[in-house]
This record gives sequence, structure tokens and C-alpha cells, in this order.
Amino acid sequence: MKRMFKGGVHPHDHKVTREAAIAEIPMPGEIRLSLSQHIGAPASPIVAAGDRVLKYQTVAAISGYVSAPIHAPTSGIVKGIEPSLHPTGRFIPAIIIEPDGEDEAMDTLPNADPEYARGAETWKEMVRDAGIVGMGGAAFPTHVKLNPPEDKPIDMVVANGVECEPFLTADHRLMLEAPDSILSGLRLAMEMVGAKRAVVGIEANKPDAVERMVNADLPEGFEVSVLPVMYPQGAEKQLIYALTGREVPSGGLPMDVGVVVQNVGTLAAIHEAVTFGRPFVERVMTLGGTLPNGPGNYRVPVGTPLSHIVESTGGVAGPAARIINGGPMMGTALSGLESTVTKGTSGLLLFGPGDFRELRPRACVRCGACVRGCPASLMPHTLGNMVEWDLFDGLTEFNINDCIECGCCTYVCPADRNLVQWIRQGKAELVARSRN
Ligand code: SF4
Ligand code: SF4
Repeated sequence: MKRMFKGGVHPHDHKVTREAAIAEIPMPGEIRLSLSQHIGAPASPIVAAGDRVLKYQTVAAISGYVSAPIHAPTSGIVKGIEPSLHPTGRFIPAIIIEPDGEDEAMDTLPNADPEYARGAETWKEMVRDAGIVGMGGAAFPTHVKLNPPEDKPIDMVVANGVECEPFLTADHRLMLEAPDSILSGLRLAMEMVGAKRAVVGIEANKPDAVERMVNADLPEGFEVSVLPVMYPQGAEKQLIYALTGREVPSGGLPMDVGVVVQNVGTLAAIHEAVTFGRPFVERVMTLGGTLPNGPGNYRVPVGTPLSHIVESTGGVAGPAARIINGGPMMGTALSGLESTVTKGTSGLLLFGPGDFRELRPRACVRCGACVRGCPASLMPHTLGNMVEWDLFDGLTEFNINDCIECGCCTYVCPADRNLVQWIRQGKAELVARSRN
């Protein structure tokens, strides 16, 4: 049964790259593999300057339960391990590889199971060893999600094909071009968590993807659900409510209501890892906005400099006033193109000076629009005020950690208040205090 979640907004979708088939880009002259491409402990490097590495070789090992290893996306020489600009704006150690142009892969890929004979427990290890993380943006290690505790039985896996962020079309293209890989990954995920049902959730603005999925060979227990177009329909809690009516409790996780959600790109990566033993070394992302001369959807090696993506697809039509990593609602602004593609990079958007209204933050007029628009039933104006006035102690009482940072409050605020930015700042302050 489909329901509408509370709140949300309806921005123009600007999906101008929806017709652009997934294309390759040339290998860059340098790959920079950040050791921190996922939520959790950074990976530990196991190569050194001067080593020659092969495509798919593990170059950084998993370093905790919530962590993920990193693999070379091509063959080449390790130039060193140095701090490198990360999309978060911080300098984080990265393994620098100079590709040798051979693209020589390892002879035998460990862990391939093309007959699907090894069973769920081994597949979870294969997913872990392949370094797969959530590709919808959060980059949470997938093997952890596929390993819920015994007291959290899972009855449904949801394939998240919503892609509700404006401009982004990478998941849409993947559903059109690789539906069988997604469904294979979904079947594997179901078996890994012991679920009997699977639902592919797709927004109604992708009728061709719905048709492709419905016409694919859907196994028993699978269904495709077409959802109304509303942002943030693709957020896990909102998607689960829309599909099942189940409400993930405050501070809880989807597993608390018997559901595991996986992005369609992540499911295709699970298929690649189990069927062919291929680790996560590349992903599909959208290059968009108003400036790129070659907007489209590209399959890009992890570690590719963003500047290389722009240059190798035709450059830009003018100076960029805004560069966004991800989508315009939940993405982060970048100061330039010096950082690299990570496993969580869903898009790169470039906009010119005339594309944005100048924001002039003013005092709250108590209109309540942010409360009505909040899909997490929070009071964004109160949270914003508390952070602005350094009243951090009460933030937890107002459930700040239930904020999914969707940006709906900022989007609707007539006073241009930086609500989501303050809330992010407040969450970061609470994390910092908990460590002291
Ligand atoms: S408070 Fe958080 S969850 Fe609510 S609208 Fe703002 S960003 Fe979204
Ligand atoms: S939308 Fe803006 S002006 Fe209206 S109550 Fe919220 S913070 Fe205040």
C-alpha cells in the first residue's frame, strides 16, 4: 500500500540528462583514492610508493566492522600516500596512483560465484571484501546493512530507484541499461537477509524505468511500486513509510521495522561482486547543471579528479559560481574541482552566476512553513535558533539527530534562513562534545 509521507517539497526536477546513455571517460593521468570514502573507520593502506598495482587489487584494507576496503581501478604505479582534498573540504590521506595505460587486471578475481552456490554467509563476505558501500550518497558499508542482528528479522528488501534529487539521472539510466544486474543484486540481498519480499520503488517521473523493470524477468515475491513525485521520497524512512506504512522510530533504523533499503546502484555492485568477483572500482554519476558542455551520465573510476571529468567531456561554457557534489538539495558546495570522485559521488553540478537568487537571511517570521515541510516532524526554526544562539544542550531533546538533512526547511523558508546548515553544525558540535 502506498502512502504519502508527511511534509516534503516539490522542486522542478531538471532531469535534462535523462536521455543521455551512460558513457565512459578516458582514464585520468592520476588517480587519488581517498582512504575515507565511507561512513566508519578509514581504510588502512597496504601498498607503498613505487609498488605496481593491478586493476581490482586491494590497496587499502578494511580497518573495523564499519569500514570498507579500497581497490585500484586500473593498473599503475603507486606514487605515494598523501593528504588530498576530499569532497567534504578536508585534506584526507589518499593513495596516489599513476595509471600505466595497460589497464591490466588481476588474473584471478577472488570470490567469483557465477553459479550462486556458496550461500548467503559467503556472499556477505564477498560484498565486504569488494568494498561496496551505499551509492545513494550516504556511503554506509553495505555488508553491515546485510548483516542485521538476529533479533531484527527482515521481511522485505527495498530497491531504491527513486532518485528524487533534481538534476541527477544516474540511477534512472542504470535502471534502463542494467535492470537485470539490479534485480540479480536484489535477489542476492534478499537471500542474504532472509527476506521473502522485494519492492523496487521508482518515482512516477521515470515511466520508462518502471516499464523496463516491470518487463524484466521478475522472480516470485518481487514487485515494482510507482511512487508520487515528491522530495525527499528517496530518503529511507520516507520511502519505507510510503511503501509499507511502517514508521521507523526516532533514533531507529530500517531494520527496526523489518526492512533493508539498498540503492539500485549498490544492488548492481552486489551483483558484480558475487557473480564476477569484481570489487567496487567505478560508479555511474551525473555531470549536470547549466555550465558543462558535455552534460550526461558517466561511468567513472573511483579516485578520478573532478577536473578531469569536466575537461574530458568538453569543458564548461563559463565561470562557475556554484559547484555542487551530489544533488542541489542534499549535496555539498565545493570550492573548486580539485577533489576526486569517491564511492558516494552521485553527481557533479556546475552553475553560472545567473542561476542563483542571492540569499539574504533575515529574522524568522514564524510562518511555520519549515515545520510543515519537514518530513521528520521536527521544528527546524527552533533547532536553527538554538544553534545560532549556541544553545547546544537542548538539541537532543528536540530530536536533532532525526534530521535527515534533506534541506526542505531551507528550501521553503521565506526569510532565507540557513536552517539545514545550522542543524548540520549543531549535529557536528554534539558529536565533538561526545568525544571529549
Ligand atoms: S529539519 Fe532536517 S529533516 Fe527537517 S526539513 Fe530541515 S533538513 Fe529536512
Ligand atoms: S520557514 Fe523560516 S520564517 Fe518560517 S517559521 Fe521557519 S524559519 Fe521561521
